[in-house]
Amino acid sequence: MTGCKFGPYLIHESQIFFRSQWSIGIVNLKPIAPGHVLVIPKRIAPRLADLNKEETADLMLSAQHIGGVVEKHFKGTSLTLTIQDGPQAGQTVPHVHIHVVPRKKGDWAQNDDIYKELDQQKKGVDNEDRKPRTQEEMAVEADELRSLF
Ligand code: AMP
Repeated sequence: MTGCKFGPYLIHESQIFFRSQWSIGIVNLKPIAPGHVLVIPKRIAPRLADLNKEETADLMLSAQHIGGVVEKHFKGTSLTLTIQDGPQAGQTVPHVHIHVVPRKKGDWAQNDDIYKELDQQKKGVDNEDRKPRTQEEMAVEADELRSLF
């Protein structure tokens, strides 16, 4: 398997749906909404400031491209794009990642509740409140998305 690393985690090739020169799009182990995906640099770099200019530009351009595709595919009408840059900002995986979340009218009662929900992921992948998806479930979504690029 080729795959990639996301911080300490090994990401299976079947989870990857997008590749650019310096970035990768992966489906989420514990999405907070349909189409909640992650855009990460290929290189393991904990903080945004650790990226060079090419990686930074490529990451944002990739998020822009991916955002357009997932918004349309999941029938959203807006997008939340978020970076929790460092542990005190809620980052749980020490590898820069942009959360891309398709949004719809009324999806959260209060708009900013989405940030509370992202923050609950602080408990990490062992958090019992939200069950991690299986590799098979993630592969189905990644296959669907891959066909759109
Ligand atoms: P943050 O709290 O900003 O560091 O977000 C970490 C994100 O990574 C959360 O959305 C997790 O669900 C997600 N995540 C953690 N481990 C994996 C994994 N192995 N594969 C895909 N997504 C993951």
